[in-house]
Amino acid sequence: MLTYLGVAGWPVAHSRSPAIQNAALEAAGLTGWRYIALPLPPERFAETVRSLPAAGFRGINVTIPHKQAALALADEATPTAAAVGAANTLTFLDTGAIRADNTDVPGLLEALSTDPAGMSALVLGAGGAARAAVYALRSAGAADVMVWNRTRARAERLVEDLGGRVVDAPEAAALVVNCTSVGLRETDSTFKSLPIQADTFGVGSYVADMVYRPGGTHLLDEAKQRGATVVTGLEILVAQGAASFERWTGMAASREAMRAAADDNAHSP
Ligand code: NAP
Repeated sequence: MLTYLGVAGWPVAHSRSPAIQNAALEAAGLTGWRYIALPLPPERFAETVRSLPAAGFRGINVTIPHKQAALALADEATPTAAAVGAANTLTFLDTGAIRADNTDVPGLLEALSTDPAGMSALVLGAGGAARAAVYALRSAGAADVMVWNRTRARAERLVEDLGGRVVDAPEAAALVVNCTSVGLRETDSTFKSLPIQADTFGVGSYVADMVYRPGGTHLLDEAKQRGATVVTGLEILVAQGAASFERWTGMAASREAMRAAADDNAHSP
């Protein structure tokens, strides 16, 4: 009998996770495992997820709009998922319990390629991705975590829960993490929509963009041109996916295989 993994979202058809996770399963020699997309509307989420273990599922990733519902339905949560207030990974344990985890946190820290301890950081956004980023940076010892969001009240709630400070006009930071969806569609409105200036980026600064978009984002293009180290949304996606894979299978995930599958997938129509 096959063992199943999947990604639940609504919509989820455009997710790159099936391609990258199946590549990791193949690289690990797990020929009896399959990772599939699970399009689930919110009203069917909890009931369907509870039925998955009996259908041969070992675990699932969870994406928009289900990350809070995933934490709520789980029987147990890791300290990371509980602190962030959202889960992107559910594991179906042999005991029958459902465990919630949040691998967006270790995924971002792995993808950053630098230790943020002591750095000043600016997180743009206050949704699920921003909550994971603020928790990750603060737990890794970033010296100052500024949080800006279009809707200020949401940033205030985030800071109340996770620390950092709300800013309206951010100062230049050594590390910028875009956790808004700005840049997903239009590529030229980034610097009009976000309170950052490209000329504050330079050698020694880090710019990470959660947005994954074939061909890259305007934000990262500008940062790269000015000599900053850039971290793409695909690299973050691969790192969080690898962490989920390792929780479900107990085996190391091949980042190389996942990256190659993500790239192939990004270039397919
Ligand atoms: P979310 O909870 O819906 O939050 C969206 C955020 O974007 C909010 O802060 C929202 O501000 C802001 N925003 C949207 N349109 C904006 C605009 N025109 N100008 C300024 N701010 C705007 O979504 P999420 O789950 O945090 O995800 C955010 C992005 O990260 C998405 O593109 C998602 O695909 C990506 N993501 C990537 C990874 C990865 O592994 N690479 C992981 C998670 C998420 P308001 O509060 O004012 O609406």
